[in-house]
Amino acid sequence: VEFGKVVEDQLDLMRRLREHRTAGTVAAAELATAIRTGQIVPWYQPIIELGTGAIVGFEALARWQHPSGQLEEPGVFVPLAEDSDLIIDLDLMVMRQALTDLNQWQRHQPGTRMSVNLSARHFGRSEGLPQIHSVALDAGVAPEQIDLELTETIPLITDTTSNSSVTRLREQGFRVWLDDFGTGWSSLEHLIRLPVDGIKIDRVVALALGTHIGNAVTRAVTGLASEMGLITTIEGVETHRHATIAHQLGCDYAQGYLWSRPLPAAAVDAAMASA
Ligand code: C2E
Ligand code: MG
Ligand code: MG
Ligand code: MG
Repeated sequence: VEFGKVVEDQLDLMRRLREHRTAGTVAAAELATAIRTGQIVPWYQPIIELGTGAIVGFEALARWQHPSGQLEEPGVFVPLAEDSDLIIDLDLMVMRQALTDLNQWQRHQPGTRMSVNLSARHFGRSEGLPQIHSVALDAGVAPEQIDLELTETIPLITDTTSNSSVTRLREQGFRVWLDDFGTGWSSLEHLIRLPVDGIKIDRVVALALGTHIGNAVTRAVTGLASEMGLITTIEGVETHRHATIAHQLGCDYAQGYLWSRPLPAAAVDAAMASA
């Protein structure tokens, strides 16, 4: 009887594993279709220069607009895309749309910049850099107006490929940032190895602003940045007090719900046209 129960449990486990795998495959196929059929769209969050309070640009953040009307945030589908080269198509699709929108907005506000998130997976493919460059060329936006944020849930390739990719992108005129600094894979090692222009300080740090430790960490990061000649953006600023402290501690730029949540393109269109 006991043996039978063990076998039964084992079969049940195998069944559940198979179902799980099938579910994963179906979701990935669905996401691939969504990318192809334009269901993945960028929403935009303004980036503010702390010294002047001016909006200097926007970060494009992927949203999945299901045909049912449901809107999904990237927390689930971006990690799924990052499991495979789907993230390449997703990133390029978001970048293409974001630069088309930027073209429009620059008519009202010349000099407005666009930040897009890029997986390090692009660096592992020979066509990675040419693809990124041609998206900019096709949109008619100079690389000088584009910020590329290296986002990580997979480790950045730490060999020379990533280093030379960052160098190459900067030679082409792009600004390159290390995203989510202070969490996960976004480590001092990457700061040492990757010749980036700037650091995006993670929201976990912003949340601690105003405390002794939060201020100490922020001051250390901005000190390190200035020593290295890098610019800084702090993410996730939700209060005036945090914005003031971040500015006092040397952060150059900020993003956060204090100014705006990510907005659909139409909302930014309206704001830009009436500005
Ligand atoms: P991220 O690049 O670090 O983007 C910042 C995230 O913080 C965004 O979440 C934004 O909505 C959120 N945020 C900004 N200000 C505040 C605030 O004041 N309070 C709070 N609670 N949250 C704030 P979102 O849009 O959910 O994006 C999550 C992550 O998904 C991004 O983090 C990025 O790593 C990834 N992602 C989004 N779009 C793309 C994409 O097109 N390509 C790639 N590779 N990754 C993307
Ligand atoms: Mg980002
Ligand atoms: Mg970030
Ligand atoms: Mg993030």
